[in-house]
Amino acid sequence: MSDPGVMGARLFRRTLRLHRPVATAHGPVGDRQILLLGLSDAAGNTGWGEAAPLAGFTPETVDEAGQAILDWLADDDRIEPPATPTARAAVDGALLHLAARAAALSLHRHLNPDSPSSFAVSALVTGDTPDDLAAAGRTAVDAGHRTLKAKVGALAFDADLARVAALRDAVGPGVAIRLDANGAWDADEAPGHLERLAGYGIEFVEEPVAGVDALAAVRAGSPIPIAADESATSPEGVAAVIAAGAADLLVLKPSAVGGIVVAAELAAIAREAGLGVVITSLLDGAVGVSHAAHLASAIGAIDPAPGLATSALIAEDVGTPPGHAGGNLLLSASDGEVRV
Ligand SMILES: [Mg+2]
Repeated sequence: MSDPGVMGARLFRRTLRLHRPVATAHGPVGDRQILLLGLSDAAGNTGWGEAAPLAGFTPETVDEAGQAILDWLADDDRIEPPATPTARAAVDGALLHLAARAAALSLHRHLNPDSPSSFAVSALVTGDTPDDLAAAGRTAVDAGHRTLKAKVGALAFDADLARVAALRDAVGPGVAIRLDANGAWDADEAPGHLERLAGYGIEFVEEPVAGVDALAAVRAGSPIPIAADESATSPEGVAAVIAAGAADLLVLKPSAVGGIVVAAELAAIAREAGLGVVITSLLDGAVGVSHAAHLASAIGAIDPAPGLATSALIAEDVGTPPGHAGGNLLLSASDGEVRV
């Protein structure tokens, strides 16, 4: 990536505080340390990038990400990007944000002059019981969301089926519902689960089983579209998913796969093979969410709705996330600003 005239840099840690720990297939996610990188040009513009390692989702610790960024800063040529994905996300994000600031453009318009500044996003709805999930679904729909995502696979399948049935009943037929099993289902049982879920009008299921070969086998007979997420976080992983026919869609988390540039490359590979692309955030801070949202706009990955409505889970954010109204994100040039 070309260097847009970087004259100064600062790197510091911030604590990302959540309202409450969020349950994931890899255990609960609570408060954690992230890194913010500010790169400045001679005119005084600053672009921000974020490295937000998350155990179970990214290979590096926050210390390793920090070292990779420092190594990149110390390299006079800066031709090679940082070696770890979250460090690369911070560097590429800061460089692109700085270039956008220097051009007096929002990031998405800098990346693509014709890209939209508003689009609908899906809402993650949680609840272990049918009643709780139904209530969360109604709240999200009342707020304007037309796409909901629920996690499955942590409970016995009959309990999940009852949750999904209650959610569908609560929100009616016009709202899209997508599910994420995070690879939890047994390969022998997944086909039966998908058959039983099909009656509830499911948009797609992410990672019903673990592994590319298992995904391909399940997808071959699935009445519901299948999305790859954990199985496809690198160019090699995406290529393997495509070669095996393992997915209809690719879920991309820019903060985890290496940032804006890498995610755009993976999206292009997926689309070339006919896969849909869903950009999502990963409990990122305001800078990471902003970069993911501006990327989704810039590459037109807005249908299916991106999963970018995570900033409300953050109690103490590091800056300004994109605006949010009526189930839509509203992008602006001030997104991803950091309070220093
Ligand atoms: Mg997923």
